Amino acid sequence: MKILLASSEVHPYSKTGGLADMVGALGKALAVAGHEAAIVTPLYRGLREKFPEMRHVDWYLNLPMGQRMVTAQLWMLVPQPGLVIYFVDQPAYFDRAGIYHEDNISYLDNAERYVFFSKCVAHLARYLPWQSDLVHVHDWQVGLVPPLMLQQQREGWVKPPPTCLTIHNLAYQGVFAPEAFALTNLPEEFFGVEGVEYYGQLNCLKAGIAFADRITTVSPRYAREITTEEFGCGLDGFLRNRQGRLTGILNGVDYGDWTTTKNRFLKASYSASSIRGKERNKLELQREMGLPADRKIPLFGTVSRLAEQKGVDIQLGALEEMLYTGLQFVLLGSGSPVFERAYVDLARRFPLQVAVRIGFNEGLSHRIEAGCDFYLMPSQFEPCGLNQMYSLRYGTIPIVRAVGGLDDSVVDYIANAELADGIKFREYSAVALAKGIRKALALYQEPNLLRHYRRNAMAVDFSWERTVEDYLRVYRSALGMVTPVKA
Ligand code: ADP
Repeated sequence: MKILLASSEVHPYSKTGGLADMVGALGKALAVAGHEAAIVTPLYRGLREKFPEMRHVDWYLNLPMGQRMVTAQLWMLVPQPGLVIYFVDQPAYFDRAGIYHEDNISYLDNAERYVFFSKCVAHLARYLPWQSDLVHVHDWQVGLVPPLMLQQQREGWVKPPPTCLTIHNLAYQGVFAPEAFALTNLPEEFFGVEGVEYYGQLNCLKAGIAFADRITTVSPRYAREITTEEFGCGLDGFLRNRQGRLTGILNGVDYGDWTTTKNRFLKASYSASSIRGKERNKLELQREMGLPADRKIPLFGTVSRLAEQKGVDIQLGALEEMLYTGLQFVLLGSGSPVFERAYVDLARRFPLQVAVRIGFNEGLSHRIEAGCDFYLMPSQFEPCGLNQMYSLRYGTIPIVRAVGGLDDSVVDYIANAELADGIKFREYSAVALAKGIRKALALYQEPNLLRHYRRNAMAVDFSWERTVEDYLRVYRSALGMVTPVKA
């Protein structure tokens, strides 16, 4: 199959979260499975310098944005056989210090930037000599691609390929003032309750949900959750009406990147059968973070966007309650200034137990996953979550709230003692999380049981081969090759 993917971020070119990991890995996995994939993504600042092998494509985009025309150039890279990355080069929109924001303030023209990018995707889907069988778009930034393609069909595109939208996080919908709709150049009829309009505003994710032939999200449980009022972010009814097109597929892990052996970010290699290197990574991490290096002290960690979704408030509450036990905690994250300050303050008050790094640091994220004994992920909601899966592979026991992909990917003792690899709690409260931490501390005192958990964790396989098969099934159903799949 020939699949055109589109995303506003793709690892290793740009990344703010799991979206980038997932799209980068899906492209690779499709190619490895013998298919052809192309990914369209913006050319952000510094990419040409970082990837000098990038080639200019003799192809100019000149597209209407409301009343004016905007042009862009195209660059390409072939990271491996069967995979091409196309970069849309529009410096006024994308040559900036940040991807979506700077100093925690969203760019005021994000609607314009991603309407333009969506138009480029629809245009390339139509005119690139490499004609894809299906167009697979990811999140609100490219949610307008399906209606834009539909409109092109009405204007004479004889047989556009079917489309698939993946929702990586329903909480981010790309909602903008109604004036932004003019930038799409779509006819007025699209701006209705069954279309891209949402309480009088333009909703880019809803545009994709309304017009994509297939909708997927990143775990089976989240696929069910988003059709409920509690998790539906106002679109649950709209999604319920499209349940027949909606499937949940758990993300895979790129074990080429996320490995405990031959990992350039780690001091020591280790595996399930030879776990000693993990202890060395722990001591190294304690030193790197400026904490007392002591193998006996249980070490907890988190790597995260600091957003409400991630359960920051209950994590801070539970840590306050549990620090008296002597445990250590390390955090790498960035996001809301209020949360950043709260963690920095905690580290200031408990300098021998808590260490915090504010910022984005790929190497340190691996060292935290590898060096910690336990990984905390108490999310309010979690579409898939990747860090708990990375933790499992790194033999770091995840403590998670039983929602979304966290519930789908972690097994706790009550559900299955034989296969237990993590600790789950249900209620969204600091008390419930503190109880989870207490269970972890008890587990830490039982070396044999801890070994059992670690072995189970490191043996779990979320490799992309399975995930890609699930996506191919969805693609085939969109192409009418098999009957639709259900959530
Ligand atoms: P989300 O996409 O909601 O942010 P995920 O768990 O799905 O959460 O994916 C987060 C990804 O971003 C992981 O690869 C994680 O390691 C990475 N990440 C998040 N914050 C940081 C950070 N401050 N530094 C480095 N990597 C980070």
